Amino acid sequence: MRVCTLFFSILGVFAMMAMHCSAEQGAARSEKTLAVYGVNLGKPPLEGKTSEEAAGFLGDLGVNAVFGGYDSAEFVAACRSRGITVYASLGIFVGENYWNSHPESHPVDALGNPIEKVQWYAGVCPNQPWLRAEKLTAIAKKAEEGLADGVWLDFIRYPVHWEDGAPRPKQDETCFCPVCLAKFQKDTGLTFPEQIHSASETAEYLLTTRREEWFDWRAEQIAEFVKEASATLHRANPKAKLGLFCVPWQPQDYDNAMRRVVGQDLKRLAPHVDVFSPMVYHKLCKRSPEWVGEVARYVSEQTGKTVWPITQAFNEPTEMSDEEFAQSVRSGLQEPSAGVILFSFGHMEKEGRFPKVREAFRSVR
Ligand SMILES: [Zn+2]
Repeated sequence: MRVCTLFFSILGVFAMMAMHCSAEQGAARSEKTLAVYGVNLGKPPLEGKTSEEAAGFLGDLGVNAVFGGYDSAEFVAACRSRGITVYASLGIFVGENYWNSHPESHPVDALGNPIEKVQWYAGVCPNQPWLRAEKLTAIAKKAEEGLADGVWLDFIRYPVHWEDGAPRPKQDETCFCPVCLAKFQKDTGLTFPEQIHSASETAEYLLTTRREEWFDWRAEQIAEFVKEASATLHRANPKAKLGLFCVPWQPQDYDNAMRRVVGQDLKRLAPHVDVFSPMVYHKLCKRSPEWVGEVARYVSEQTGKTVWPITQAFNEPTEMSDEEFAQSVRSGLQEPSAGVILFSFGHMEKEGRFPKVREAFRSVR
């Protein structure tokens, strides 16, 4: 009898240990989001593969979330069956096509000039009612299709090619177009002095006399759109995640250019966003891999929301070593970060980085 009791006690302890271990492994497995951005079924290495094969390739990389491929129901199903979540991203205030089709959407800088295109980048005025309506419709459509499990807002800011570093005085301070100036006066009840006529005079007045009201109002315009985007998305799909790609600047960067230039107020955005993804391309921004984790921590502290930084997996401005890449992934996954998104899938293919991605993700899983 005693032997029997002892036997079952030992058995019970082993069973509990086994349960504990498997619970821990399960938690570890589901703990961090390991994502790649820019999956394109029409390009190598996925070109010509069946949906099953494409999802298998991604699963083998150790990925559990992808951005892209959400137009194919078959691919989404193949991903889901492997525990891979599929997300969409949507460019909001961006596109040279809008400058052509709607010239009033071309932002006006503090010198009173229409902004110039920077390389491929053409930012659009965030306060064009028709554009905001068009983008909300696109978000609703994505949600109603039911393929993507979430939508990330990209270019959700005032125009600036932030990857270049310090914003240019006046040229990167926007938007002083008639639509923005009229809406600012209407919303705030402030009227400009009579002697002020041109856009550059108005900019001078706002940036000296009405600085804080101006910056607050700008931030509110971005936050208001994000609030509407969240309502639109969740009305159609309450479980979908709304994500946001934010500029990786803190107040000490460029005299608080996040407020003066970008107009992304993290605290103001937080109630409407499920996941924040700061674009911490450390090498491009001439920072260390540790900076990735530092920014993720800052965004988490500011917002209290889930943070999955989007990190650099491309060779710019110079080649990034395997060790530096691995460091940046580790840094991006440090608490309180809940995951990492690698940018981008196309670069990994061209630059032969898949083996290192597999290694980095496998070490986490
Ligand atoms: Zn404007």
